[in-house]
Amino acid sequence: MTRAVLFVLAAAAVVAGQPARRSVALVVVGGTVITQDAAHRVIAPGAVAIAGTDIVDVDTPAAISAKYTANETIDARSEVVLPGLVNTHTHAPMVMYRGLADDLALMDWLQKYIFPAEAKTVSPELVRVGTRLAALEMIESGTTTFADMYYFEEEIAKAAIEAGLRGVLGQTIIQFPVADAKTPADALARAERYIKEFKDNGLVVPAIAPHALYTNDKTTLLAAAEIGRRHGVPVLIHFSETEDEIKAARDQFKMTPAAYLESIGFWGANTVAAHGVWVTDEDIAILKRRGVGVAHNPESNMKLASGAAPVGKYLAAGVALGLGTDGAASNNDLDMFEAMRQASFLAKHAARDPTALSAQAALDLATIGGARALHMDKLIGSLEAGKRADVITVSMAAARQTPMYDPVSHIVYTTRGDDVRTTIVNGKVLMKDRQVRMLNRTTVIADANRLAAKVREAVGR
Ligand SMILES: [Zn+2]
Repeated sequence: MTRAVLFVLAAAAVVAGQPARRSVALVVVGGTVITQDAAHRVIAPGAVAIAGTDIVDVDTPAAISAKYTANETIDARSEVVLPGLVNTHTHAPMVMYRGLADDLALMDWLQKYIFPAEAKTVSPELVRVGTRLAALEMIESGTTTFADMYYFEEEIAKAAIEAGLRGVLGQTIIQFPVADAKTPADALARAERYIKEFKDNGLVVPAIAPHALYTNDKTTLLAAAEIGRRHGVPVLIHFSETEDEIKAARDQFKMTPAAYLESIGFWGANTVAAHGVWVTDEDIAILKRRGVGVAHNPESNMKLASGAAPVGKYLAAGVALGLGTDGAASNNDLDMFEAMRQASFLAKHAARDPTALSAQAALDLATIGGARALHMDKLIGSLEAGKRADVITVSMAAARQTPMYDPVSHIVYTTRGDDVRTTIVNGKVLMKDRQVRMLNRTTVIADANRLAAKVREAVGR
């Protein structure tokens, strides 16, 4: 090839706009991109390129437009772009019991109100309708992954997939007869069928959820853990939530719940334990050693007056700690922005130390920390090439957000779920400009109100 031909070819490449640009499905452009990667990189302005289910690039708008052409562009100028929030502990259908019984301690609340209401009203229909309502609320407030424990979990899985949300969804195992199982053996068999049905789904991770130490015997706990291990799926449990629970465990087993579960071989690297409010240093060491993820639920813990989890100790010990809302009957919403704020305030208040949980640390809990707690940090929790495209954009235009000196401070201390503009999960836009695409908002709310009339009738409210 002559030098002249080479020169012509090079000139043509320059005219065509340099190396060919790759076509991608979606680019979110402009705004402050808080990546939550290991270096805590913030790119302002930044852009995120998405192809298929994955993030392919995170860079400046100029760099992204030089490399990619987009089929759809979301203009996020003046917004903050974040990884989708990870709710590590909830019971989605319990939105149907929102505000049904408030201002009670955990055991009174559970045994006098929630368990009886559930016994009378839990059905596949209530679970389906409740999960759609919860999904609507989560999409509208920027949650892209939720960990769930409830009954008829297959209905929750179907509703999550239909709404486009990612979930770690655990079929509940409990010792007494419940709506979807008459015995623990029934519940275990049901959980195994459910796990096989939803295994290898791109959006839903099926899981098994023995409710707690105080609602299951040793045989059932170990059978549930064994099913989790055999199928390689997470095992979700409530533990050390209240002081009463610790007293009961000490009376019965002469050990803390964490030590007892260790002594029977329950804990595994696939376990996610919710609450962990009342734990000793040895308990924390056990959880760290076993690779257990912990879900901290500050709002539920405050509302039920359960106590303040030692967040600083967990983090110092290197335990994988995430944040949860718990069910809407004990919160009473699924807004993870509020969970971040309350986590920070509770930690500061409990330690009487304003540095106890900084805004950045609270944001970590709701994103990459939650992903770690769910053992999914290779896939989600930060905006990085190769991870799943779970992305949200948040408006910073409200009076309460003006002026903005520090975007991380604003995300944690002044932002509300309602400020979320865009929610993307697995590369799919579930909400744009606050218009939810996958669910019919009017129908979802009307169905929930129709079923609420039946709940009201059943519990005499
Ligand atoms: Zn719970």
